[in-house]
Amino acid sequence: MHVVMPNAPVEGKIASTVSCMRGKSASFVRHVEIDVSGTPLEGLFRAGQSFGVIPDGVDAHGKPHKVRLYSIASPSWGEDGLGRIIATTPKRLLAEREPQTAKDDELDHSLFVGVCSNWLCDRRAGDPIKVSGPNGKRFVLPADPDAHDYLFLATGTGVAPFRGFLMELLEGPPATSPAAKNWRQCTSRIELVMGVAYTNDLLYDGWIRDLAKKHANFTYHTAVSREARSDGGKGEYVHQFLERKIHESGSMLPLLRNDRTLIYICGLAGMQIGVFHMLSRHGVTGFTKVADELASVHCAEWTTEQIKRRVRPTHRCMLEVY
Ligand code: NAP
Repeated sequence: MHVVMPNAPVEGKIASTVSCMRGKSASFVRHVEIDVSGTPLEGLFRAGQSFGVIPDGVDAHGKPHKVRLYSIASPSWGEDGLGRIIATTPKRLLAEREPQTAKDDELDHSLFVGVCSNWLCDRRAGDPIKVSGPNGKRFVLPADPDAHDYLFLATGTGVAPFRGFLMELLEGPPATSPAAKNWRQCTSRIELVMGVAYTNDLLYDGWIRDLAKKHANFTYHTAVSREARSDGGKGEYVHQFLERKIHESGSMLPLLRNDRTLIYICGLAGMQIGVFHMLSRHGVTGFTKVADELASVHCAEWTTEQIKRRVRPTHRCMLEVY
């Protein structure tokens, strides 16, 4: 971690940039590849970590922009097999201003354009980019991937690290990569639940579907929140999808009750609350630790605030939410 500090970033180069959405949507998400060859970052990152981007220009106070962290969407050997190219999945932040504090102008609803996400999405192949990192030590795959089964839970761009994980577990490095010598395809059970607002917002969807067709041990699910389901049911969040599967299919609960299983949650801050609550309601243990003062209250009565403060992930649950 922290091989390159944000106050002394190194210069990479945009290798490629493409949209990675399934269809036309109100959102814009890109798959951006960055060439870090010749920098200390080359070969020194792992799938699941993040890295820093320092956009050009200055902020409203005339100071250079601060670093922003983006999840690495590549396997540990990079996009090229040699650790020279890392990918990430930025979404353009476009929003209307809303007053946050009493000091803010309550009539201001003008467009707010996120500084770094839009700068990064605007870059063209060949453009220079200042980067730092890598960051993060917990949201990584275990040393022996075959010793575990996996439930990956993503909302939106939170799917980024799972792209890298799936490549690492199932696809393997190119034959020319030094990593190819010791790589073994993972035969464990792997399930990914991808939560998005609309079907067109699904990211890397074609690639993930193809992967699921190729690997019988990998299942891809989608939880679409603002569209009716094909069975006529209402749209749902990731945890509501899991709960429905617990009721409908005989296979979700065994995965959750299996000591081998690891849960990885990545995406919107707060998505873990629904997941933790649902696990507790179904008596699933091992992924969360409930503080003593809450343990005496029946889980059906827990409030969102209590879950946020008093329910923590264990070593079998990896959480990256912002
Ligand atoms: P988004 O499009 O705003 O939301 C994706 C889906 O999540 C939508 O269906 C949304 O439903 C649903 N959702 C909203 N609240 C939820 C909740 N409490 N529980 C479960 N699902 C919920 O997502 P996005 O704009 O791509 O944002 C992704 C987030 O992931 C960002 O905040 C980003 O910073 C974070 N992220 C974190 C990492 C990391 O930690 N390393 C990496 C990548 C992304 P509705 O909109 O219909 O309510």
